[in-house]
Amino acid sequence: MQTQVGIIGAGPAGLLLSHLLYLQGIDSIILEKRSREEIEGTIRAGVLEQGTVDLLNAAGVGERMMKEGHTHHGIELQFNGKRHRINMHELTGGKKITVYAQHEVIKDLVAQRLKDGGEVLFNVSDVSLHEFETNEPKIRFKVEGEEQEISCDFIAGCDGFHGPSRQSIPKTIRTEKQQIYPFGWLGILTETAPVNPELIYTNHERGFALLSTRSPEIQRHYLQVDPKDDIANWSDDRIWSELHERVDTEDFSITEGPIIQKNIVSMRSFICETMQHGRLFLAGDAAHIVPPTGAKGLNLAVTDIQVLLHGIVEYYQSGKTEVLDQYSDICLRRIWKAQRFSYWMTTMLHRNQSHSPFERGVQLAELDYVASSRSAATSLAENYVGLPMEIPGKKSTNLSMLSI
Ligand SMILES: Cc1cc2nc3c(=O)[nH]c(=O)nc-3n(C[C@H](O)[C@H](O)[C@H](O)COP(=O)(O)OP(=O)(O)OC[C@H]3O[C@@H](n4cnc5c(N)ncnc54)[C@H](O)[C@@H]3O)c2cc1C
Repeated sequence: MQTQVGIIGAGPAGLLLSHLLYLQGIDSIILEKRSREEIEGTIRAGVLEQGTVDLLNAAGVGERMMKEGHTHHGIELQFNGKRHRINMHELTGGKKITVYAQHEVIKDLVAQRLKDGGEVLFNVSDVSLHEFETNEPKIRFKVEGEEQEISCDFIAGCDGFHGPSRQSIPKTIRTEKQQIYPFGWLGILTETAPVNPELIYTNHERGFALLSTRSPEIQRHYLQVDPKDDIANWSDDRIWSELHERVDTEDFSITEGPIIQKNIVSMRSFICETMQHGRLFLAGDAAHIVPPTGAKGLNLAVTDIQVLLHGIVEYYQSGKTEVLDQYSDICLRRIWKAQRFSYWMTTMLHRNQSHSPFERGVQLAELDYVASSRSAATSLAENYVGLPMEIPGKKSTNLSMLSI
């Protein structure tokens, strides 16, 4: 098999890259270890930055998102039993976020790729990367038990945190930095109407809680728990009772409904420096993980892809490798800022039981400062809606500047 870009992983990063390359007349093949049903059914992110929404629209895959997604102009912070609204729209000169589930983005991208005749190979196994230090990288894999090989010009490692791409970069070349948090998120999907027009982030003595949404019928809520806790310890009654304890106020009580899904995820910040070796480029969770508190993971994957797209298009149009050579540095500069924001939101909002009374006092003062200072609220807002993505020497990062 022969293609221009071999892509490992059909998450948001891999699918979007393949679609954007197609729009530029560049071929790719995606290798995905799971089935189409599995990737379209995995519940994960839901908050899309303005830039992500703009890109999906510009790429012609935003129609359903615009119909079914929900625009939010602000978020609410709750601490000491009181709510405080951060008006992101006003503080950022009109920017907003859109709540549209990651698996819906995946469905839209898969459908578009298949409609356009794109090659997405599901259920592959034994994926391995070869010769990416040369100009003729290869990917070997098995499909239906049969060994296959793809020869390509570039490999995009979009295979998430546990995929083989990052591990293929020699250990002497990459540096990995990480922070493990003593917090886990117990997430539920529940069949109820939205409990609030905007997301509510709560810092409570018993732990963090987040009230979020997915659609007019399905809501997504989270509780801070011990990351080693077993979901079997959490009956539906216990989950609702804990949510009431943490989020109810004098004039608000959370609406209960049937819980249709529940799980516990642990939280980490992780970054791999470098994101490139030879003709292998890492994008998305393959290169970095953020705790979900800042809602940045999917959005970071999208901005990595934008930079990679610019680099690959430049290469095929002019033979230049200016952007590709700087891919890692360009991406990491923005990723570190998203890491800082996600770390800050996580430490500000979660209850750390090892904190001294003094540290707890500082945490509450920080929340009070964000809620009462326009400058502090603006800093939160501009990071939450998404920092600009800049490519040195490029006036615009829009798709329109990439002529076919
Ligand atoms: C509970 C939770 C809530 C979140 N909330 C948000 C949010 O609100 N906003 C936000 O922006 N982000 C959020 N995130 C993060 C977001 O989901 C991820 O950052 C995003 O999925 C990254 O996309 P990706 O394409 O890089 O990786 P992935 O989505 O992980 O996709 C990688 C793909 O590669 C495939 N793969 C792996 N190994 C192989 C292999 N050997 N061969 C072939 N294929 C392989 C996998 O099956 C997968 O389909 C959340 C995450 C979690 C867990």
